[in-house]
This record gives sequence, C-alpha cells and structure tokens, in this order.
Amino acid sequence: ALITIEGIDGAGKSTLAAALAREIPGAVLLREPGGVALSERLREVVKDPALTVGPRAEALIYAAARAQLVEEAVRPAIERGGTVLLDRFVDSSLAYQGAGRGLGVDAVRAINEFATGGLRPDRTLLLRVDPAVGRARAAGRGEAPDRLEREADAFFAAIAAAYDELAAGDRERFVVLDAAAPPDRILADALRALGRTP
Ligand code: C5P
Repeated sequence: ALITIEGIDGAGKSTLAAALAREIPGAVLLREPGGVALSERLREVVKDPALTVGPRAEALIYAAARAQLVEEAVRPAIERGGTVLLDRFVDSSLAYQGAGRGLGVDAVRAINEFATGGLRPDRTLLLRVDPAVGRARAAGRGEAPDRLEREADAFFAAIAAAYDELAAGDRERFVVLDAAAPPDRILADALRALGRTP
C-alpha cells in the first residue's frame, strides 16, 4: 500500500511520517524530493538559492526525482507487499508547481502521470495548517534557507488553497487532519483513518 503525507511547509509532515513509521510494522519511510541517490542529488539542485530555476524546469526536476524514487524504491516495496509511507508525492507538485507557480494543475498532473507510470496513493493524509503558522514553524527550524523562502505569503496561500481543493475533489483518498492539534492526537487520528486502532 502507498500512503502519502501532504501539506504546506511547517505543517508537521515529517514528524507525523516518523511517528507512523514507528507504529506500522515493516513500513518503509521515504521523503520527496529524495529517498534514493539521484533524487537526493536533485533535491540539492532544486533547493539551491544560488540557481535560477524556472517553473517548468522546477516541475520537471521534481518529476524526475519522483520517477527515480518510484522505480527504485516505491514500486519494489509495494510489490513485496509492503507499506510505503511517503513524505510528499504528486499532490505536492500539483499544489506547488501547478497552483503556486501557476503552471496549471492539469499540465503538472500530465508530466507526473508519465513520471510515476500512473502510480496512485491508496490514502493521502493532508495536514492542514494556516499558511502563516506553517511558515513561522518552518522558519523556526533553522535550516539553511532555500529558494522558496523568498516567496510572498500569497504563494503559500495559493498552495494551501490548492491542497484544500484537491482534498475536496477526492474524499475517498484524502484524510484531512488538523495540524494545529497536539502531535499524539494527530497520530491517533491518522492511525484510525488508516484502519489501525491506535
Ligand atoms: O517538505 P520538504 O522540506 O522536504 O520540501 C523541500 C522543499 O521543496 C520545501 O521548501 C517545499 O516547499 C519544496 N517543494 C516544492 N515543490 C514540491 C515539493 C517540495 O516547491 N513539489
């Protein structure tokens, strides 16, 4: 099974992903962009504040990183019958590049259909948080600044709105979680949504 975790920067995706990995025996935890050698290298490229990366190139770099991750790690694990927990997947590109960068959700969906061979998550956990709160949390992490930190609040508001729209359009797959809740509550709600009693 493929379970993806989505949300804007600072929503708490990585924290939830790590907690789920501890609770689900044998689960494989991977992050995007990254997870395998080529994709981690592409992550450095796409985050580098010294590089000019246009919206189309950005969308294609994320798609290339995703293609390699799917082929090298995600599909093999699923074929072995495992559970894969993925910290971001195609929905991130639909929201960030499709809505945030203005490329359009349909165009970005098309290149990702190619990149993933049409692989779809069984469940997507969307951590929903006010963009200002998310940004403040992400800024407080003290990581090296990446290209996105120059973006205006409107960029993150567009991404948050796009996630809401994606979730509203597919209530079977999406589970919306309140990222402002205490971490143990979020974990319990996530496990329940995945059919595991916490
Ligand atoms: O979530 P994580 O910090 O690993 O994401 C790395 C960076 O890439 C973040 O700044 C995130 O907003 C950005 N990103 C993006 N488009 C995607 C996926 C991630 O701009 N499709």
